[in-house]
Amino acid sequence: MSVFCTIDDKYVPLYRVLWISAVPHFCGSDECQREGQYEVRLEDGESVWATRRERDDALDAIEVWQNGEYEDDQHESDGQ
Ligand SMILES: [Zn+2]
Repeated sequence: MSVFCTIDDKYVPLYRVLWISAVPHFCGSDECQREGQYEVRLEDGESVWATRRERDDALDAIEVWQNGEYEDDQHESDGQ
C-alpha cells in the first residue's frame, strides 16, 4: 500500500500529517491564495493546502492506513 497521498501536486507521507482542517481556509485577505482550500499541517511546522477532493482523499487514506486494512481486491501471492 502507498503511504502517500497527493496534495497540491506533492506526495505527502501520511505519517507526517498532524492534522487536517475541517473547514476551508478563510482569512479575508484580498491577496490570499488559499481561500477555500484546506490546510494540512505537517510534522515540522510546514503546511500544504488541499482542495476539498484532496482533503477527502487524504482523510480516507489515513483512516485506511491507521486501521491497517487496506482493501485490495487483488489477493496476490505472498511473495514480493
Ligand atoms: Zn488566507
